[in-house]
Amino acid sequence: MTILVTGGAGYIGSHTVVELLNEGHEVVILDNLSNASVTALSRVEQITQKSLTFYQGDVLNKAFLQKVFTDHPIHSVIHFAGLKAVGESVEQPLRYYENNVTGTLTLCEIMNEFNVKNLVFSSSATVYGDPASLPITEDFPTSATNPYGQSKLMVENILSDLYQADNTWNIARLRYFNPVGAHPSGLIGEDPNDIPNNLMPFISQVAVGKRDKLSVFGNDYNTHDGTGVRDYIHVVDLARGHLQALKKLNTNPGLVTYNLGTGQGYSVLEMIHAFELACQKPIPYQIASRRSGDIAACYAAPQKALTELNWQASHTLEDMVMSSWHWQSNNPNGYSD
Ligand code: NAD
Ligand code: UDP
Repeated sequence: MTILVTGGAGYIGSHTVVELLNEGHEVVILDNLSNASVTALSRVEQITQKSLTFYQGDVLNKAFLQKVFTDHPIHSVIHFAGLKAVGESVEQPLRYYENNVTGTLTLCEIMNEFNVKNLVFSSSATVYGDPASLPITEDFPTSATNPYGQSKLMVENILSDLYQADNTWNIARLRYFNPVGAHPSGLIGEDPNDIPNNLMPFISQVAVGKRDKLSVFGNDYNTHDGTGVRDYIHVVDLARGHLQALKKLNTNPGLVTYNLGTGQGYSVLEMIHAFELACQKPIPYQIASRRSGDIAACYAAPQKALTELNWQASHTLEDMVMSSWHWQSNNPNGYSD
């Protein structure tokens, strides 16, 4: 099957493309490279010994999308393309809504035009806001506290409306918890453009000597050690979840929604200590004040994906930190090395 992967040069996209190629799919990637390097794609080809088709362009560009859909017999679309920095979304809400919401609308319009109606959408656990209890099941109420989260929620609602209006669509809304880690080859991984916002790339950059120390945002949360707890999931497990979602779409399920998480929460301090074991050096850190908008704890109930997608995470915390370190130590400056 030919799968169109928007944002396929990015962190989760590139890992998913590896799994798609390994399963024998034809892969067409569309990415504007606003937060990615084309080197990731040559590394994907190196890992899989298979070739892919790449178009540099924007999901907001209708004529460009029409060309891609004309040139290829696209069966399904995995839509990763989006902007993802929470803080930046607060400063630049219009850019985030335009890119994430209008971008998805444009993609869906063109899919409709070409009668391609199988879509996997990258949503996020952020749509659960501050959950009233844990673990989080898919039927929990949704809310958003920043434009990034709002854009994910808006798209989720748009996709639901689209399905209500035309139930020949098959749509999987995948709510990712916290993707970390890298491909075991050490050839692809997360390569933030700027100062990392997320915990794991920040720790990796401290370990490799690019940053002096980590700030731990708050140690007075109501968690076992006072620091924030999250459900970290290995990016290869996450990538494989997309293949299972595609299989599900082939059974004509309509609109479906799944948590992709492990069900296990780790604190910031636990992540630091696990990483120290992996890199065999101390990670200097200081306790700082809480980051605005952060919640104490968040982890998934992953049972629905197990039952309906036959998917569950298999990588351990050690796999996550070891693979992150393997990638970062082999590529201290990411793809620009
Ligand atoms: P990423 O930035 O590495 O990948 C996104 C890719 O989309 C990049 O390669 C970027 O160049 C491309 N892109 C952005 N806007 C585009 C546009 N208008 N047209 C074409 N290409 C465009 O991010 P990622 O971590 O791989 O995330 C992928 C998706 O998963 C995003 O939608 C993100 O919001 C979502 N998500 C990520 C996380 C996370 O923590 N990484 C968590 C939950 C959800
Ligand atoms: N965090 C931290 N220092 C950092 C980045 C993150 O202490 O430099 C904490 C953050 O407060 C949260 C956890 O690490 O408790 C995960 O944060 P991340 O930004 O990676 O994911 P999200 O907040 O989106 O779940």
